[in-house]
Amino acid sequence: MTADGGDTLLQDFERRLLALEQAFEKLRAAIDPAFAVANVAAPIAASLLKVDGQHAFSAKFFALLDLGEAVLKYSAAIGFASVMQANTPQSSDIVELFRRPPSLGKIVERLRKILDDSSSRALWPMTLVTDALRRANGKQTSAARYLFEEFIAIRNSERGHGTHQPEGYYEELYLKNRYILEDFVLSSDLLSTTLVYIHSVDHYGEQYSYKVTRLMGAVPIDIPDPIISPTKVRMHSTCVWDGAARLLALAEFVVYRFCKQCCSEHTFFADHMTPDRVFLQSYPGSHRIEVERR
Ligand SMILES: [Zn+2]
Repeated sequence: MTADGGDTLLQDFERRLLALEQAFEKLRAAIDPAFAVANVAAPIAASLLKVDGQHAFSAKFFALLDLGEAVLKYSAAIGFASVMQANTPQSSDIVELFRRPPSLGKIVERLRKILDDSSSRALWPMTLVTDALRRANGKQTSAARYLFEEFIAIRNSERGHGTHQPEGYYEELYLKNRYILEDFVLSSDLLSTTLVYIHSVDHYGEQYSYKVTRLMGAVPIDIPDPIISPTKVRMHSTCVWDGAARLLALAEFVVYRFCKQCCSEHTFFADHMTPDRVFLQSYPGSHRIEVERR
């Protein structure tokens, strides 16, 4: 800013350049869905691609509901893992929450409690969730209002429908909800922060050296250079990575592993946990598996 409050030429130029870049990215995204999801965390990217892959509006709409649920569960997973790692008083409530399969409403309620708590919402990478869902003054962003209120209401009423409605009904619902959800998925820093799977751990002086697979978009890719970090995380963890030295393991909340049902590796969300078992859910495959707790 100049002294009189106006923009400098450089700021004006930067703003125009940014607008141009955004317009270009939108155009590219419209042309190639696989390109658009390349920088979206895999558990969300898979759901987004499923929406695009369906043809009937009813199928697209129900895939869109899965996408919204996945966005909420992924946000909650980051919140839960951040709180568990910091071992705040909310940790025991989270353990309690997963003793039985929690409803989406219960998961969201717990996430909102984390957002309401000033020390919990400031934990990294919870800060990514906080920035996406809360304004600086503490009020909800429009995305949060949509996800926590409108989306949940639509999801609860449509998932509860016993009878199938005509296609035109789902077409309207799909078109009404698609852009707001897709826009959030493709533009949020929360979902474009890198997710990695740790496949080997070594000591590196006082720190740790991790060989990882990048879990973004549709295709997992091994990263050639190891991540060097002072943070200790277990082998086979799925972690949020800041691109430098910070890692947070998402524990059982988001898991990448071999699935007996698909005979391939993919991501899962925690459905519920007992002291020795964890029940995992995959949205794109519409299936659940039960595994031993690590
Ligand atoms: Zn599977």
